[in-house]
Amino acid sequence: MAPDSEFANASFGKPDFDVVVVGSGFAGLYLLHKLRELGFSAKALEAAGDVGGTWYWNRYPGARCDIMSIDYSYSFDPDLETEWQWSEKYATQPEILRYLQHVAAKHDLRRDIAFETRVESATWDKDSSRWLIRTNRGAEITCRYYVMAAGCLSKPKEPEIEGCDCFRGEVYYTSRWPHRGVDFTAKRVAVIGTGSSGIQSIPLIAAQAKQLTVFQRTPNFSIPARNGPIPTHRLADYEGDRAGYRERARWSRFGVPIELAEIGAMQVSEEERRARYEAVWEAGELVGIGLAFNDIILNPKSNETLCEFIRGKIRTIVTNPETAEALCPTDHYVATKRACLDTNYYETFNLDHVRLVDLRKTPLARITETGIDTTSESFEFDAIVYATGFDAMTGPIVAVNITGRNGVTLRNKWADGPLSYLGLMTTGFPNFFAVTGPGSPSVLSNMTVSIEQHVDWICNCLKDLRDENLEVIEPTATAEAGWVQHVNDCANITLFPTANSWYMGANVPGKPRVFLPYIGGTDAYRTACNEVVARGYLGFVRSGSGQRRVNDGVIRRLQPDVQMLLEAMSALNLPPLEEMSPEAARAFSSELSAVRPPGPEVGEIVDGVLPGAGGDLDYRLYRPATAGPHRVVVYFHGGGWVLGSHDSDDPFCRDLCVRSNAVFVSVNYRHAPEHCFPAAAEDAFAAVRWIADHLETLGGVPGPLVVCGWSAGGNLAAVVCQMARAADGPAICGQVLVTPVTDCDFLRPSYNENGADYVLTKSLMNWFWDHYADPANRTDPKASPLRANDLSGLPRALVVTAEFDPLRDEGAAYAEAMASAGVEVKHLPCRGQIHTSLTAVDMILSGAGARAEISAAIRQFFHQVEDLVMRNN
Ligand code: FAD
Ligand code: NAP
Repeated sequence: MAPDSEFANASFGKPDFDVVVVGSGFAGLYLLHKLRELGFSAKALEAAGDVGGTWYWNRYPGARCDIMSIDYSYSFDPDLETEWQWSEKYATQPEILRYLQHVAAKHDLRRDIAFETRVESATWDKDSSRWLIRTNRGAEITCRYYVMAAGCLSKPKEPEIEGCDCFRGEVYYTSRWPHRGVDFTAKRVAVIGTGSSGIQSIPLIAAQAKQLTVFQRTPNFSIPARNGPIPTHRLADYEGDRAGYRERARWSRFGVPIELAEIGAMQVSEEERRARYEAVWEAGELVGIGLAFNDIILNPKSNETLCEFIRGKIRTIVTNPETAEALCPTDHYVATKRACLDTNYYETFNLDHVRLVDLRKTPLARITETGIDTTSESFEFDAIVYATGFDAMTGPIVAVNITGRNGVTLRNKWADGPLSYLGLMTTGFPNFFAVTGPGSPSVLSNMTVSIEQHVDWICNCLKDLRDENLEVIEPTATAEAGWVQHVNDCANITLFPTANSWYMGANVPGKPRVFLPYIGGTDAYRTACNEVVARGYLGFVRSGSGQRRVNDGVIRRLQPDVQMLLEAMSALNLPPLEEMSPEAARAFSSELSAVRPPGPEVGEIVDGVLPGAGGDLDYRLYRPATAGPHRVVVYFHGGGWVLGSHDSDDPFCRDLCVRSNAVFVSVNYRHAPEHCFPAAAEDAFAAVRWIADHLETLGGVPGPLVVCGWSAGGNLAAVVCQMARAADGPAICGQVLVTPVTDCDFLRPSYNENGADYVLTKSLMNWFWDHYADPANRTDPKASPLRANDLSGLPRALVVTAEFDPLRDEGAAYAEAMASAGVEVKHLPCRGQIHTSLTAVDMILSGAGARAEISAAIRQFFHQVEDLVMRNN
């Protein structure tokens, strides 16, 4: 093709355009409009022959949106909302394409789009601070900013099947469907692939074809779309207050304004669970699946109940039991791969001329000249339809040879998975933006909401640069690494990484397995993006006109669930404990404890009484469900020596009991201010002595104990170890100190950094100390174990600290001091955690890793004892 004349003078003078945009789907069109509005010169380059993107290419029969039409549409132009009426709940591809064509015409966008123009390379020129873009037409275009609105699902995946090129019949790809349409009447048709595209097209192809054979490698979960008119309640909600409705969508979890469930699936009866699932099945809405309960994508047990419900429906609909079983997904949790919405999909397999071939049983061997061979059968076809999906998210971006600073290519930079800041930019590639790039909510949301948010952010960013006389923007390496970590932290508390999905890059051979989108929610994501700007473009270097502004930093350092918890607590505006009397504070903490998840089942729980230093103490014993006898851990609860009981730490003890397969004896001790220092320490020591003397009565294995405690309980565990050393017994083989108080000094940096915002505050710690010990007593090692002159000879230790805890540095100091004294110590610093989060079982899922490590340490302490016994025998 001849070079485009309009770009012929590209490399001289001013750049050709302020902005070059790749793509003219939902994203490219809105970008062009917004850039123009802000006075930037912009050109869009589009490989297709017209606007529409996804809806230009994917013209297969049955193609529709799976987010309701009223939601899956632009909100930037309020007039558009009145002049365009959607005809159905889920609009067809032609209708959505007409809509996008209408938007392009209304805003006269086509005049700035070069169609049938594929961008092949983009190179950053640092001397002129411009991008040089090359296209398949041989054009060279320069621009200040290069924005890829190239789509997440626009690069079809190569069907990696032997013999693909030899078939002599008709070949179709759902992702590149011919514009003329296809007539399958009287034909024998094969469809390969049962993702959303396959599931939408199969019933309609079956309706035409003489014979249809579906080749399925992995069954997917699908629920009926129940297409038809837009549900009246939803329409009324939308029509009643369009601006309000859109705003709620923007601040919702998935870009659709529906209510979130507030309860977990295992917290209701089987009848109620079933009733909710029936409602989801009847509603025919994809986002409803993940929102039936608040833990569907978090808790395997909860998710499995929904999986089984859907499998039950499949078994009821599909009459041939073998086919029904083959259609039942068993290899992934529902929603961890994009679930599908269908119209008569399962019913189609009851038709006599439709057959399902289960490639798990008889794998696909090759495509032949006349059809398809599996390992057990040869099939002949007139047409083969590939519904085999996309090289998603990164595919369209790295398909362009993008070269940033110092000749580094994006392909190389992303060889092990994409690295981005906010999914918008990537370090080393200045002035390069991606709309709905990897690391942003994109495909896990209503894309139109995410697209608008990204376009608005990018355009406002360019405007801010212009207003501040700056030209170049690039994220810092620290900001990018922090964001990538946050994206992974969000994914890792969900079930998503367990599935072989295209979200994980698992569908493309050789693609790195990395969770590509951001699952923290469109609301949380929007907040983070806004905060970056409000904090002066945190995490960016911005330069131009002799200025260079570096604002390095990480936008999200807390674990995502900890962040959510803190936000929820802040919304409740809870009164500070230190402004209450001890009695009121105790009552208040008990109330809070009553509403949290209960923790796992253990084999047995026995409440009892043991003699303390000043009278009887209550204890609660947790026995694992496995065959005993078990080794015994003595546990001390937290609560600043003032609050707490074996009830307050019940879920934590259950969790550790199950994970470490040890008996836990959680001992109550006398509280301050009624009983000040050293009452708690003396009770703790008395309890350990009594338990050591009664191990067999308690069903434990005779031998050394482990002591464990959290917070003030960690303080007591540490103190007990020192007291046992001094008293020459009882034998303790390990101490686990979870975010312990080890010193009365408030001067360490963690008190300043974390003393105000993370539940345990400096003023609350003051209140605790004031109640527990006179200033004169606080430096006693029985109150501040770090003050002991000699720490040698103490039991092996695990010290757990939390990054955002005022007590972090004193915990670390105690670990270091014990190690210096020759004690075998492991220090486990927990990134992104706060003082209270590690014990919040089933609430703070990101704490589960730390609890697993605590339990592993406990097992290890006991193994070391057993090894020693064996060696001595
Ligand atoms: P696209 O629509 O993919 O447009 C990108 C454009 O960039 C394409 O036209 C492409 O030709 C062009 N392009 C790419 N690379 C180059 C290059 N190098 N040079 C020139 N041009 C290039 N999302 C939802 O939220 N709800 C839905 O219901 C939904 N349904 C979907 C149904 C199907 C069949 C598919 C495939 C996806 C669906 N999606 C859905 C996701 C959908 O991709 C987005 O909703 C949205 O359409 C993306 O818009 P976009 O402009 O970002 O990208
Ligand atoms: P997909 O979900 O990736 O499904 C591809 C299918 O092809 C899978 O069943 C896959 O099996 C199969 N496959 C791929 N390679 C194969 C091979 N070599 N041999 C045999 N089978 C093979 O792709 P998609 O259906 O096009 O959907 C992609 C995404 O686009 C969706 O998840 C959704 O986000 C969007 N979409 C939405 C709609 C909608 O309803 N609005 C419609 C279409 C697409 P395996 O699972 O075993 O790999």
